[in-house]
Amino acid sequence: MTLIDSLPGGQVSLDIVQVQYPFDVSFLEYPDNESDSVVVYFRGCDFECRGCHNSGLHEVVPNDKSAKFFSQEDFYEELKSMCVKYRTKKVVFMGGDPLAKRNRYFVKEFLFNYREEFDIAIYTGYSRIEVLQMDVRFFKYLKCGQYDETQKQISGKFDSHFVLSSANQEWCNNHFEVLSKDGIMFFE
Ligand code: SF4
Repeated sequence: MTLIDSLPGGQVSLDIVQVQYPFDVSFLEYPDNESDSVVVYFRGCDFECRGCHNSGLHEVVPNDKSAKFFSQEDFYEELKSMCVKYRTKKVVFMGGDPLAKRNRYFVKEFLFNYREEFDIAIYTGYSRIEVLQMDVRFFKYLKCGQYDETQKQISGKFDSHFVLSSANQEWCNNHFEVLSKDGIMFFE
């Protein structure tokens, strides 16, 4: 019997997450201009931002062949193996939302358990203050704030800076210090 089967009504345990599978590798998502990162897309989001580009990831969907359920240990093994293969310790958690209510417990545990192993950047729709109140720690970078279509800008990673999708969003460091202004962060 799996963790999923063991709960009434098909409810999915908070000890496991559903993420898109296989994981992705990208130079574009991590907020420096040095190397690739392993990118993981979490299923589940608490928001309904107008114009969301990832609306297909808002729900956990059992039996979705493009995704997989992971326990903490299995997730670690998969992530570690990808990082070794691509010679990086940089990881991006995005989605969906890794800090959605259904993912938050798992992600906080993972950040604590494996804080020495990875440099993790988290993309969330929650604000910096809300994430601070959740007591989320041990990440390297945090991209926070909902996507606001009225503040949309041409986003991307450039040689000297990173432009977020809407100007209200922020990049923070692990001390919750804001590193961006109007959704633009210049690399050190
Ligand atoms: S937080 Fe992100 S994934 Fe969730 S609705 Fe907003 S843009 Fe979409």
